[in-house]
Amino acid sequence: MATINENYLKLPGSYLFAEIARRVAKFKEENPSANVIRLGIGDVTRPLPQSVITGLHAAVDEMANENTFRGYGPEQGYQFLIEKIIQTDYNPRGIQLDVDEVFVSDGSKSDVGNIQEIFGLENRVAITDPVYPVYLDTNVMAGRTGALGQDGRFGNVVYLTCNAENKFVPQLPSEKVDLIYICMPNNPTGTTLTKDELKVWVDYAKKHNSIILYDAAYEAYIQEEGIPHSIYEIEGAKDVAIEFRSFSKNAGFTGTRCAFTVVPKTVKALTAAGELYPLNKLWNRRQTTKFNGTPYIIQKGAEAVYSPQGQQEIKALISYYMANAKVIREGLASIGLEVYGGVNAPYIWLKAPNGMDSWAFFDKLLTEAHLVGTPGSGFGPAGQGYFRLTAFGNQENTLEAVERIKTRLRV
Ligand code: PLP
Repeated sequence: MATINENYLKLPGSYLFAEIARRVAKFKEENPSANVIRLGIGDVTRPLPQSVITGLHAAVDEMANENTFRGYGPEQGYQFLIEKIIQTDYNPRGIQLDVDEVFVSDGSKSDVGNIQEIFGLENRVAITDPVYPVYLDTNVMAGRTGALGQDGRFGNVVYLTCNAENKFVPQLPSEKVDLIYICMPNNPTGTTLTKDELKVWVDYAKKHNSIILYDAAYEAYIQEEGIPHSIYEIEGAKDVAIEFRSFSKNAGFTGTRCAFTVVPKTVKALTAAGELYPLNKLWNRRQTTKFNGTPYIIQKGAEAVYSPQGQQEIKALISYYMANAKVIREGLASIGLEVYGGVNAPYIWLKAPNGMDSWAFFDKLLTEAHLVGTPGSGFGPAGQGYFRLTAFGNQENTLEAVERIKTRLRV
């Protein structure tokens, strides 16, 4: 008889979005005329930039011609895209990378989920709390954690609490950790780290031979000076960090699917024999075995992001969402709510008023203002009492939503 991977049973059901849907459906049934606006979505709403559309069309036409048709491409991605990535995203920031240190993929979700495969099960994992759930769940599936406890935390995982008290800056753990997931700008809190704050973690990783898994999916949203766009802006990071980037949120590729992961050849971890082994080689082995490359058409679309027109268009896209973020942030603050994020990220994280828990605030927002957001407790125990709104809606709905918050919400 075949048996299952029991680790999957340690995971609770995906309760958060199902419960949101249930409560919204019930509210709509009871209030059929209510115009409910969703400010909870983590998906973009603007269409792809014109330069990307043109790039995609041209690539489709190439596939129709015997002389330009492409079959399997390199598993690591086409050189034309990797070179543009390095020249545009890294070289201007003083970061040098070799072409074989960048791996193009079909999305950061796959990469941040799959990366843990190249590490031993005995590694101790640290995650921030609250957190983008994929880091934790994939380690649970692999068997790197204990069971889920009454406190909502898995055994054998080090949770780095991020809250208003520590200004959402994860503090170094008292016990040694091996794999450290850091996401900046952060989903869900919308907060960032300065170079000095990130350097603390790079120094820790160097001292303890740990590896930092740095998710920079929202890098393009950074507006302020002094916030690192890449972890490799920090001295020494090329020895200890893997970085994940995505075209999903900067260029609207959530449904088109393209991302990349940087694994410098200098990042190494120990073999059982006590030797240092380059993770680049392992990730290359993993990808060439399990992944057959991102479609040529899609990579041509991503390449167009780096054209002068593409760069202008994605700037405009980000400005559009960040204008929404400003409206939400200022609207919430104007009625006296404690608000975080939304300055260098498309996420606004607010403290529910009067000590309310996250779900109580969800119900309040829905019934009083007919708005839907995401309860912070869905991102981890330390998210309890907080709430996430996103700037990814259209401008008209966002303005209407904020007007309702100002005029209808009783805080
Ligand atoms: N990382 C973070 C922090 C995210 O919030 C998301 C998507 O919401 C992803 C990765 C996934 O990105 P992709 O669309 O490239 O899979």
